[in-house]
Amino acid sequence: MHEIILALNAGSSSIKFQAFAIAGDGLERRVSGLLEGIGNAARLVIRDGAGRILRDDHLSTAAAPSVEAAETVVGDWLLGDEAMQLIGGRIAAIGHRVVHGGADFSTAAKIDDEVLARITALTHLAPLHQPKNLAPILAWRQRRPELPQIACFDTAFHRGHSALADRFAIPDELYREGVRRYGFHGISYEYVSEKLGEIAPAIAKGRVIIAHLGNGCSLCAVKDGRSVDSTMSFTALDGIPMGTRPGAIDPGIVLYLMREKAMDAAAIEKFLYHQCGLKGLSGISNDVRVLEASAEPQARLALDHFVYRIAKEIGALAAVLGGIDALVFTAGIGENGTDLRARIVAASNWLGLHLDPAANAARQTDLSAAATGPRVLMVPTDEELMIARHTRRILSLT
Ligand code: ADP
Repeated sequence: MHEIILALNAGSSSIKFQAFAIAGDGLERRVSGLLEGIGNAARLVIRDGAGRILRDDHLSTAAAPSVEAAETVVGDWLLGDEAMQLIGGRIAAIGHRVVHGGADFSTAAKIDDEVLARITALTHLAPLHQPKNLAPILAWRQRRPELPQIACFDTAFHRGHSALADRFAIPDELYREGVRRYGFHGISYEYVSEKLGEIAPAIAKGRVIIAHLGNGCSLCAVKDGRSVDSTMSFTALDGIPMGTRPGAIDPGIVLYLMREKAMDAAAIEKFLYHQCGLKGLSGISNDVRVLEASAEPQARLALDHFVYRIAKEIGALAAVLGGIDALVFTAGIGENGTDLRARIVAASNWLGLHLDPAANAARQTDLSAAATGPRVLMVPTDEELMIARHTRRILSLT
């Protein structure tokens, strides 16, 4: 019977999960699932290892009003007969995505009482996300206390940043209490970097900018497989615009909102996380597909601004790297947004990046126009596989 690793990725309104069988040196995907729309019109989609849909259930709002309740739906399903048959093995361990690992966790960690306390203590640095990540850890501790659990941190891949890249120009005592440029999306960046090592080893040793463009968006400068800088920093609000987050803004705007609009911390937090970005600027939607289909000038402006800001930050990270050998697109928009990819690369032509329209339309891996020079690549991310790899490594599962 195969040993199985479960990888759980609990976000603010969705839970993604995958089960992998340990097969020799590799990990074989047995099942993947997505429970999305938590608190609203929740939907549970289960696929087999080949990606075929096995189940597509619409849940009542009462069934999944919160991440904690949705976690129970997923946990019950995973321990039920249907899942057991599909997975075809014994669950040996569970790996979790944890958004914040603070300054100390530079790699994944086995969860014991001490590690759990340290993760919990970091909640004030990621108040919206860390509790959602903790929910499945606590639930599985109750459900199956004997199962080893591993925490994989979105910040860990960035812990090697230089002291220069790690700081804001603010008094040092704030740095010492944790106000640093942590960076996020690290599990995705690590996966894409490892994949580059397999498919383009020479490039993986060079200067690479990875664009993780999904619901959250950030860029990462990678040199010889290691993150050297990233656009997200103290929180997942910084950097380039996203679906509902503004990316970097003048902090004077926050003072303006407090003084002129009498907004308190909770109101500003809601504003910055949910009412800005593509949604705020367009006044229409956070979804790129909706904006691309719209004839409204504000939709066009939002997409134009998105491209402008990403191209500007690509230039900044190219300066940090001293040039660029490849730009790699990943995540929902990066993998599917053919038009946006073309526009971002067109705005980055000055770096020697040029796109082949046919390769771009066909969603190939190498989208570059020329056979030599800096590459433009598209590499689908797989955060759950990266979580499962860390889980296997830390526990030496064979
Ligand atoms: P998450 O960060 O939740 O994992 P994803 O990486 O799945 O999110 O990205 C979701 C986003 O991808 C959506 O908001 C949508 O804007 C974008 N997207 C999905 N499909 C397409 C498409 N065909 N063209 C452009 N954008 C797309």
